[in-house]
Amino acid sequence: MTDATLDRASSIRESWQIELQPYACAFCESVFLLPPEASRLTCPTCFRDELDPISDAEQYPSYVMPPEKVLPFAISPERAVSLAEDNLKRIPLRPTDITPANLKDRLRPILLPMWLIDAEVQAQWLAEAGYYYEVVSHNERYGGSGWQTEQVKRVRTRWEPRAGELRRSYHNVTAAALEQFEVLTGRVGNFAIESGQQDYQPSQIQDVFVRVPSRPPEAAWDGAHTGFIRAAADEVRRAASADEIQQFKWRPDFATQNWTQLLIPLYSTYYLDDQGEKQVVYINGLTGQVWAMRQASPRRAQTFLFIGLALASLLVLGSVLGLLIALALPILGLLALLGVLLAVGVAIGGVVPVIQANSFNRRNRFDPKRLV
Ligand SMILES: [Zn+2]
Repeated sequence: MTDATLDRASSIRESWQIELQPYACAFCESVFLLPPEASRLTCPTCFRDELDPISDAEQYPSYVMPPEKVLPFAISPERAVSLAEDNLKRIPLRPTDITPANLKDRLRPILLPMWLIDAEVQAQWLAEAGYYYEVVSHNERYGGSGWQTEQVKRVRTRWEPRAGELRRSYHNVTAAALEQFEVLTGRVGNFAIESGQQDYQPSQIQDVFVRVPSRPPEAAWDGAHTGFIRAAADEVRRAASADEIQQFKWRPDFATQNWTQLLIPLYSTYYLDDQGEKQVVYINGLTGQVWAMRQASPRRAQTFLFIGLALASLLVLGSVLGLLIALALPILGLLALLGVLLAVGVAIGGVVPVIQANSFNRRNRFDPKRLV
């Protein structure tokens, strides 16, 4: 280890209050912080490669500061496994490797980073404030007892232009810290980050894979700006005692920005398909929403085909015997013909699952490099 690496390592130890070392996956480029004694660990993002320790200071990740806040797992490992199993049941002809024991053995807890940004904002703003009001109208209706008047209430919105100046500091506005974060939330749903945040303690990251940001603050700024606009528009709405705000525009100056991190929980696990390829399953650690790479088992479908073919052969054999006897007993000739037709039907029935499994797999084939 060079002096520079030792410096970085000791600064991690001081700030995290625990010894940690960065590890990288050469396949999907995920970077994690783990105890330095960790060895031969498979990457829990893609399960395609082992994590290699980064010891060269030049390769060190840029953002290895400890998080300000951590959201602990709200879903237990047992619950995560049972939710994953329920989800995988929907795969037609699912691979036999999908068992609760396998999913549990391979389950990995991960904490993913999000940016938390504090900033002083001064801004001129314009907006339309909306106020709800009720309109009452009357419907005249002719019924069994003559004309009746029915009162109908409708809610309408009155829009009023507003403008003003805003000067205040915002605290912990969130933005994505991973390149594929929006893709991930598209799969396992949003993480409910508003409540339950705890101050960072070293015990929260024990036996957990801590992921390092892959989207630097400069690239995450657009997402953060949207968060500031949302917070400011909501404040303007409350200040104007309005029910809604639209067309919110502002010219902000951001001063004294401070970027820290929030860690959010995700489980990953996998099953093996017919080719022995690892198919990744993610479970949102807060809501339990599951996403999985979905591959059926053509091998299981082939079993149906073999059973179908064996049955069909038996039927043909029976029919041929029937035909021979039919020379003496003509009624059996008809039965033999029915037997042959049935055999053809059974054989076709055996082919269908094989076609289904293969086309399902083609439709759901997935590039494991594009995960998180
Ligand atoms: Zn990986």
